[in-house]
Amino acid sequence: MPLAFDAPLSALPGLNAPRLKALRALGLESVGDALEHFPRRHEDRRSFPRFPTEESETAVCVCGVVEKAVLKRLPGRRSLVEITLRERAETALSGRLVIRFFNIPYLHRQFPVEQVVVVHGKPRRRGAVVGMDHPDYEFIEDDGEEAGVHTRRIVPIHPAGEGISPRVLRGVIYRALAAVDPATIPERLPGAVASFARGEALRQIHFPSDEAALAAAREQLKKEEFFGLQLAVALRRAETVSHPGAAHCGPGALLDRLLASLPFAPTGAQARAIAEIRRDLAAPQPMNRLLQGDVGSGKTLVALAAMLLCVESGHQAVLMAPTQILAEQHWLNFARLLAPLGLRVGLAVGGAEIRLSELAGDFALEAEGASAPAQIVVGTHALLYESGQSALARVGLAVIDEQHKFGVLQRTQLTARFAGSTRPDVLVMSATPIPRTLAITLYGDLDVSILDELPPGRGRIVTGVRSAAKRAEAAKFIGEQLAAGRQAYLVHALIDESEKLDAKAAAAQLAHWREALAPQAVGLLHGRLKPVEKQQVMEAFRRGELRALVSTTVIEVGVDVPNANLMLIENAERFGLAQLHQLRGRVGRGAHKSYCILLHDPGATEALPRLQVLENTTDGFKVAEADLALRGAGDILGTSQSGLPPLRLGDLLADAPLMLEMRRAAQEIVAADPRLERPEHAPLRVWAESLRRPVAGA
Ligand code: ADP
Ligand code: MG
Repeated sequence: MPLAFDAPLSALPGLNAPRLKALRALGLESVGDALEHFPRRHEDRRSFPRFPTEESETAVCVCGVVEKAVLKRLPGRRSLVEITLRERAETALSGRLVIRFFNIPYLHRQFPVEQVVVVHGKPRRRGAVVGMDHPDYEFIEDDGEEAGVHTRRIVPIHPAGEGISPRVLRGVIYRALAAVDPATIPERLPGAVASFARGEALRQIHFPSDEAALAAAREQLKKEEFFGLQLAVALRRAETVSHPGAAHCGPGALLDRLLASLPFAPTGAQARAIAEIRRDLAAPQPMNRLLQGDVGSGKTLVALAAMLLCVESGHQAVLMAPTQILAEQHWLNFARLLAPLGLRVGLAVGGAEIRLSELAGDFALEAEGASAPAQIVVGTHALLYESGQSALARVGLAVIDEQHKFGVLQRTQLTARFAGSTRPDVLVMSATPIPRTLAITLYGDLDVSILDELPPGRGRIVTGVRSAAKRAEAAKFIGEQLAAGRQAYLVHALIDESEKLDAKAAAAQLAHWREALAPQAVGLLHGRLKPVEKQQVMEAFRRGELRALVSTTVIEVGVDVPNANLMLIENAERFGLAQLHQLRGRVGRGAHKSYCILLHDPGATEALPRLQVLENTTDGFKVAEADLALRGAGDILGTSQSGLPPLRLGDLLADAPLMLEMRRAAQEIVAADPRLERPEHAPLRVWAESLRRPVAGA
């Protein structure tokens, strides 16, 4: 009796309750789930090569017979199991292969002498012996019976789990493929882009008849994955533009007054971005725009311009920042710039009521300002939950700064939070320079403005990677710069934001730097300080009363103190490239030549090539490319953050052409049927819905 694609796995014969439970733990509940559980690799077991005689960086797959299996006790309650294999077809030339497993004490008992075993691993030479440490292995029980599933073919190795081995899983999937009724396998790809039926692709990805068939199946399933991804993006875009929006754009007099009051003119790139945003604001459709620009390219001014245009049309504008320090900095900055224009700027952070800027002295507010609602409100994610509804009743523009620190979900939440009968315009800003294929995938539902020009007159940033043994020299250099009137950030990974603050470590660092930099005033800044303390420290640094700041990565995003031209990062090897680039972006903001010193643990030599990328370039795009090459796209995207389905086969960089092709295919369908309401699109709609579920922790 053939089984339907969505039949439960329990309908397959021979699966007991513990097996079903283990399968469920892998997320496999139906026959279809099993078919969509793709192998992580294949082993060619059609014929095995001779045992390796040399080391190699590529793994090899060989078959041998257990000659002996021994357990060795090592000092410190550690152990080593050594299995010696001989070749099945012995010749005078054949050697031995020794596979080793550390600290799995009784494993040798599982290797009976004369057992046939397939191993897969990287050959390593130890003296005269060639062997493998912790290889994948699988016993071959009865060649006759198993031929066609576990041996004598290209064999799939699936991601397995607790209570279920790759071998058992392979058997389950083999039987699922044999049992499934092909007519019940849902097609995903539009006929025009599919090369063959989906059932065939699923069969060949698991049990390929040869390499070419495997490659073709993989290509088709990659297409399917990209198509799903692009369908989700296209539907999201169709959904946003389907909402009624409104024009939120004044004539521009306020903006002109602001620009006239600045000591500099906007860069060409800033002017272009402002013009693009202005068009969007004036149009009745909701704006969904990404402003991308490297650290220091001046995104804040563009955001401020957009907010002024909005305010002038009689609406409010909000800006959401990922940290309180950054929100407060924007608030101070905006309040100072906008007070002369008679505008009120509010601050919404951590549950506090929206505060109006009332820092008398630096700038004066109109007397009646205090009780009227602010026209511009800056805040953290507290804006999402702010109870003071009435204070934010007329929001026409929502700006998200450092959007990569938030998720797509929060963008959606913010939009929904301020949507009344019409949607607010939305501007998201990001300093993560990513290649185009990534951008249109991640932000495919957004229009993009790019700041590809830094403001003129920036001092150069010289970056040096040094061993921590040179700390004293670095301190001396920093001391000289401070004496000449500059300021410094001293960044420590030690004081981890996510863990409990190690107050002693922080205090020790502070004491160390106070002594090393005496008589200069050194302050301490970290995420665990009370908000008001953070604000005081940051203000003292901004005013130059504090000359150096021992700090955690709380200063990573957005902080802007142009007189600070020195940054020293301790244990730089613990940070990612993108994060170091962001941190470094805190300096090089004034006219003085800036210095970024990356101290690494003397033992951390493997991190040197990565750190040297920063020595060689200050271009965020090049840093991002190197980062992608080193870490892979998946990591950088943080798929769970994007709210998009994770990719299992495709690679956004390597498979870019395929992705673009599928983007066109998805857009075509959504353009013709924006909600997939046509009867023939019903299965596609069900699939797309399942893809749009935010994937928790995936
Ligand atoms: P980011 O893009 O990293 O958010 P900011 O908006 O913080 O950059 O701008 C960095 C610095 O550049 C700020 O001190 C800002 O005042 C200054 N700035 C912005 N635009 C210009 C410009 N056109 N000319 C000179 N300085 C500018
Ligand atoms: Mg910024």
